[in-house]
Amino acid sequence: MKHLLLGDEAIAQGAIDAGLSGVYAYPGTPSTEVTEYIQHSVISHQCSAIQCRWATNEKTAMEAALGMSYMGKRALVCMKHVGMNVCADAFMNAAITGVNGGLIVLAADDPSMHSSQNEQDSRFYAKFAMIPCLEPSNQQEAYDMMAYGFELSEQMKTPILLRVTTRMAHSRAVVNTVEKPRPQNEMSMPKDVNHFILLPAFAKRNYAELVAAQPSFVAHSEADGHNVYTRGAKPEKAIVTTGIAYNYLMESYDASMGRSILRVTQYPLPAALIAQLVKDGAKEILVIEEGQPVVEELIRGMVPSDVVIKGRLTGDLPRMGELTPDSVRKAIGLDPLPEHAPEAIVVGRPPALCQGCGHRDMYAALNEVAREYAAPRIFGDIGCYTLGALSPFHAIHACVEMGASVTMAKGAADAGQHPAIAVIGDSTFTHSGMTGLLDCVNANANVVVLISDNLTTGMTGGQDSAGTGRLEQICYGLGVPQEHVRVVVPLPKNMEEIKNVLREEIDYNGTSVVIARRECIQTLKRHLKAAKRG
Ligand code: SF4
Repeated sequence: MKHLLLGDEAIAQGAIDAGLSGVYAYPGTPSTEVTEYIQHSVISHQCSAIQCRWATNEKTAMEAALGMSYMGKRALVCMKHVGMNVCADAFMNAAITGVNGGLIVLAADDPSMHSSQNEQDSRFYAKFAMIPCLEPSNQQEAYDMMAYGFELSEQMKTPILLRVTTRMAHSRAVVNTVEKPRPQNEMSMPKDVNHFILLPAFAKRNYAELVAAQPSFVAHSEADGHNVYTRGAKPEKAIVTTGIAYNYLMESYDASMGRSILRVTQYPLPAALIAQLVKDGAKEILVIEEGQPVVEELIRGMVPSDVVIKGRLTGDLPRMGELTPDSVRKAIGLDPLPEHAPEAIVVGRPPALCQGCGHRDMYAALNEVAREYAAPRIFGDIGCYTLGALSPFHAIHACVEMGASVTMAKGAADAGQHPAIAVIGDSTFTHSGMTGLLDCVNANANVVVLISDNLTTGMTGGQDSAGTGRLEQICYGLGVPQEHVRVVVPLPKNMEEIKNVLREEIDYNGTSVVIARRECIQTLKRHLKAAKRG
């Protein structure tokens, strides 16, 4: 069957067709569509029941997926690249426990930081955890690699990292799918439960097994057919290319160039194929890879020192950002293509909060109150409201990572800052802000935590937010005095009330929470439409 699918959708369909039992994820661009596709497939009965509710954060997602795998069923975890940092504890230890049912961890990297605060490369995590990594170079391969990845995971008893980047996740191609999905695994207990008890004695044994398995991981990379070596007529100048970067190369490559090409889509690197490249006469290897120079660094230790390695580290390709057809053309000695028109005719449009958004009214009130203090510091967080850093608000003075607003405000208050205010969304608060609030309460830190509650995860398109309807109870439960958990409705008509509440809580010497609650107007529109339809 043929479908026109985004890379994310191909991954989702591939997982469904491979007998998936549960997808666990926290929304994050460019990975969100994988889980949404599976959710829609379940709702529309296009596939059998699959657990697919959003998780509170990437760590809880990873752990739930490991639990599903423990029970012998196939599980998928999805996140954007920075989510790997959040789930790193569970991820690294899942490599030590190993798996029972197949377990694939999808990390969607965002080179050029289109929607992210860094461009870290998740392939490092696979190497760090010493597990296999798959990196599809097109949508069909992304689909096929789900079945392959689950098989490999179950055969090798290890989690598999599937790494994609923004262009792969968000571009469409025709994908051939199987007609009948594989049934889900029956529930089955792990043969040796001690594998999942990481007491030092068991963990040491497991780790030794993981180390011993490394040659077989390499053997699969060399033999399973995903890594393809093609000897050229002029093999002195070879190319090693990975994942979607292969497409950039193929856009410009002409067979008459005669180069030997090694296409890598599975890691650990296929040592035998790299050795063959050198045996065939490669004196210079150009490494074309999307993201950080992972292969370029590794390959240096795998070839004789007189073989010249070129890539991002040597300046033959840009050190930062996404590859482009032109940057790859230049690296292989071709002239750039004629100037692309869009940049010349499309005027740059800085991102902004939607008109009518409650965050706007929240910032309008906060800015007015903040001006009444000599040196206010407002610590922001990750979400639509991060745009409060830009014109016309210029309201926040820091934004680092999920949940950092609360704990950075605490640190600033510890240093003597007053007022120290954290601005955080409802979804980000339950993702990573709650623990910081507990730190504030335990220290009675002089901090105001302003939760801008739009009742959804707005920035990624309006997914469920884990604490909707329970934020006050969560704050009470964490120990914030009930009289210092205040709720306001961010609307222009309520400006005076909101400002007074903020003033009172800033003047209170302790930890307080102000919840500015009004639904995201984008999800509100959708809800109203759905209600009309009945
Ligand atoms: S998507 Fe929703 S929360 Fe985000 S800026 Fe627009 S209205 Fe505000």
